[in-house]
Amino acid sequence: MKPFDYQRPHGLGDAHHLLVDDGAKPIAGGTNLLDLMKLEVETPQALVDMNRLPLGGIEADGEGLRIGALVSNSACAADPRIRADYPVLARAILAGATFQLRNKATTGGNLCQRTRCYYFTDLSQACNKRAPGTGCAAIGGFNRIHAILGASDACIATYPGDMAVALSALDATVEIVGSSGDKRLVPVRDFHRLPGDTPEHDNVLEPGDVITAVLLPASVRGTQLYRKVRDRASYAFALVSVAAVIQIDDGVIARARLAFGGLAHKPWHDARLEALLEGQAPSDALFDQAAALLLEDARGQGSNDFKIPLTRRTLKAVLREATGGTL
Ligand SMILES: Cc1cc2nc3c(=O)[nH]c(=O)nc-3n(C[C@H](O)[C@H](O)[C@H](O)COP(=O)(O)OP(=O)(O)OC[C@H]3O[C@@H](n4cnc5c(N)ncnc54)[C@H](O)[C@@H]3O)c2cc1C
Ligand code: SF4
Repeated sequence: MKPFDYQRPHGLGDAHHLLVDDGAKPIAGGTNLLDLMKLEVETPQALVDMNRLPLGGIEADGEGLRIGALVSNSACAADPRIRADYPVLARAILAGATFQLRNKATTGGNLCQRTRCYYFTDLSQACNKRAPGTGCAAIGGFNRIHAILGASDACIATYPGDMAVALSALDATVEIVGSSGDKRLVPVRDFHRLPGDTPEHDNVLEPGDVITAVLLPASVRGTQLYRKVRDRASYAFALVSVAAVIQIDDGVIARARLAFGGLAHKPWHDARLEALLEGQAPSDALFDQAAALLLEDARGQGSNDFKIPLTRRTLKAVLREATGGTL
């Protein structure tokens, strides 16, 4: 690991002051950043420890909830309001990592976790995300975990997190405070980026920006599900995951919100699916149409071709379960 400076500010203003320095990065639980620093994939000159900032706690916010950026994944998943009103979020968090990791991992850090592309963490390989302009070893390489939607010629990595997939299905918002103290609200759906020709930027954060909270809107009635398909029953990242919030009224899908993990450089959301489902009676034929629409532009990279039929089956199983049908 390369030497680095370490600061532990008490206030947001001090944190911003330190973060505007080139090469400074925030650190929260450290469960992702420290791993990448040990591998020298990330080499910040200074770490700004967020843990003394007043960004903890889950509070009522209007009709919804405000989850502070430093709330641990364990505390978030265990909160009675989240378990009762936003179970898809609790389930997605509990489907990720281990008890020990979730105790350290934070809401802000979880959103910003980096790809698990094997070539990204192997310094001997070309990687446009780690070293812009060097190429992409995953294209034409072993790409079993890589993207089938939204990839570019520069990068085919996936965003690996579970929590953000559920947050997308819940229409959540990320609260960000910039270095000049200005606050902005970014829908979770717009927070992560597609790779395009600048895959080194995972999300919309600018230098000096701090995530201060995630805002959940008022809870909605209906069934909330998170299904994660992975190589092992626990302690593995998603090959494909589906978060669903589905409301049925009088035998018809009144409201559908769906988001997908493991498919793209960001939690995948396709509003066309929701428009197709809403107002319709659930049926296998409808679910077939939804899967076909979702996967219309899907493209396998070789080793990950299996993700296309796997996604189709997973979406249909989730829709059947969420609408009261059999699996
Ligand atoms: C073995 C293993 C298995 C895992 N399995 C899963 C899994 O199945 N599913 C899953 O979703 N995750 C999984 N994870 C990832 C884990 O959830 C993340 O490492 C964790 O959530 C990151 O949170 P953190 O607080 O430790 O972030 P840190 O490591 O502290 O930071 C991560 C990034 O976020 C930035 N950051 C942190 N806080 C802020 C803030 N407030 N504002 C702006 N930027 C900030 C940091 O600068 C850094 O770039 C796994 C991790 C490990 C090590
Ligand atoms: S897929 Fe992206 S992260 Fe992986 S090697 Fe290619 S450029 Fe790097």
